[in-house]
Amino acid sequence: MPSDADSHRPSSRRLPPRRRFVLRLGLCLAALVLLGAVFAAARGQALVRLGAQTEAAARIRALALDSILAKQRAVAAILADDREVIAALGARETGAAVSRKLERVQAETQSTVIYLLDDQGRAISASNFDEPGSFVGQDYSFRDYFRAAMTSGTALQFALGTVSNRPGLYLSHDVRDGSGAIGVVVVKVEFDAVEAAWAASRDRTRVTDMGGTVLLSSRPSERFAPMPASQGDHLSVAVPVEGADWRLVQEVSGAPALETAALTTGGVGLALGLGALGIGQASRARRRAERRQAAERQYRDDLERAVAERTEALSAEMHERRAAERRLAELQADLVQANKLAALGQTAAGVAHEVNQPLATIRVLAETGLDVLGDEGDPEVSGNLATIVRMTSRIAQITTELRNFARKATGEITQVSLAEAVKASLLLTESRRRSGDIPLELAPIDPGLRVMAETVRLEQVLVNLLQNAEEAQGGQPRPWIRLGVEAGDDAVTVTLADNGPGLDPAQAERLFTPFATTKPGGLGLGLVIAREIAREFGGDLRADPPVPGQGAVFRLTLRRAP
Ligand code: ADP
Repeated sequence: MPSDADSHRPSSRRLPPRRRFVLRLGLCLAALVLLGAVFAAARGQALVRLGAQTEAAARIRALALDSILAKQRAVAAILADDREVIAALGARETGAAVSRKLERVQAETQSTVIYLLDDQGRAISASNFDEPGSFVGQDYSFRDYFRAAMTSGTALQFALGTVSNRPGLYLSHDVRDGSGAIGVVVVKVEFDAVEAAWAASRDRTRVTDMGGTVLLSSRPSERFAPMPASQGDHLSVAVPVEGADWRLVQEVSGAPALETAALTTGGVGLALGLGALGIGQASRARRRAERRQAAERQYRDDLERAVAERTEALSAEMHERRAAERRLAELQADLVQANKLAALGQTAAGVAHEVNQPLATIRVLAETGLDVLGDEGDPEVSGNLATIVRMTSRIAQITTELRNFARKATGEITQVSLAEAVKASLLLTESRRRSGDIPLELAPIDPGLRVMAETVRLEQVLVNLLQNAEEAQGGQPRPWIRLGVEAGDDAVTVTLADNGPGLDPAQAERLFTPFATTKPGGLGLGLVIAREIAREFGGDLRADPPVPGQGAVFRLTLRRAP
């Protein structure tokens, strides 16, 4: 389960913050480059479209001019062939009738003024003959349109009117009779209405002559000045005006193209932004879900760990409780054993006391009987009496032992010199050691070393241990007994080791159980009593577990006197 959890760690898919920053920066730069490209492409397309539209508009305006010029040119040509006109020029007379005709034609064709010049350039009739600024009588011989028409037939001149002071196009056509040019018809056209129409549009429209001088413009102030340079962000298209050596220049602001490009780029940017926002939201949602899953996994893991820990603690607790119960049972068993032993001690003391007297009497009587019979007596009776004496001696041995055990409260536990007690015990057991030729190894004991005990019973314990060690040596080729003393701060341990056959493993288990003995004449009480005494002193008596091929080792611990 933990391995499963590890393989789905959300953090493993998340980039470190530095790399994430670089990635985002890169994406932003890429988006900027893309938007720049979109802007450039959109602007280029918009400019192409704008150029096409502007050219179409310029052509329409040029055509309109063309048609005006063609019409007025036709008017001049028709009047030049008019008989009344020819007649008037031939007579060099100012004829009101011709002037009225010119006035009618002018009104019909929407020119500004129509007039006739004789071969000297003097106006003999004019459509404005009846107006204050009448041209009749004026001399126009200096005008190019007069001279050119007289020599070449027709002429076209854009100029300011000398009388009206208003700009206009002068179209002139010669009038001929059989002898040659006798005069010139002049039609003046003003373009105020056209220019006003142009001015209504946002575009700038200008008409220039071949020299680049502005003749007509949507801004009248620019007239007769050189063509101004086009503005940086403006787009200009030039088309020829067919009827004259003119060029019509249409200039439009590039702003709409920029606006279109900006709008397109904005749209793409918005789409990109929304896309990025969507992706960001989706990835945030994914990370949130991953975090939630990780938290849930963590919670589950924690829960499982807590359950495992609690289970472990509970089983440890149960284990401890079982151990405590076992200890309690052992203690209870020890208590029962101690009670048994106490009862046994009391019984033993009572029995010993009660039995001793009659036993002594039986023994004395049997011995007396033996003496009375003497050597001549019935051997069977003598044998029986001898058996009675042996058996009473044996019973006396048991009662002595039991009395010794029951001699419990004979003395108080006091500070006892361990060296003295050991010395006395060795003395009591010396004869057997000597007869068995058993050497004793004894390290010197500090004479000042004192233990909490009662002298006689401490000696009883030591004698018992020494006797057992001696008895175990029977038939041993190189017997020895080693007595060592080890003094700690609070306790003193007396170790008694021998070179005998060691403890029988079956015997080792019930060593301190009453009447457990491996000796033919043994009672099995010595070690039980010795341990009881040691415990009464606040110490203990233990045997080392048996080791095959090695003798027995007994350890008597005693409290060290303060
Ligand atoms: P007893 O000497 O009357 O048998 P003890 O209680 O003194 O009673 O000893 C019990 C038994 O412990 C002995 O019968 C013997 O088997 C064993 N034992 C005691 N001391 C030794 C020893 N030093 N080496 C081998 N066995 C021993």
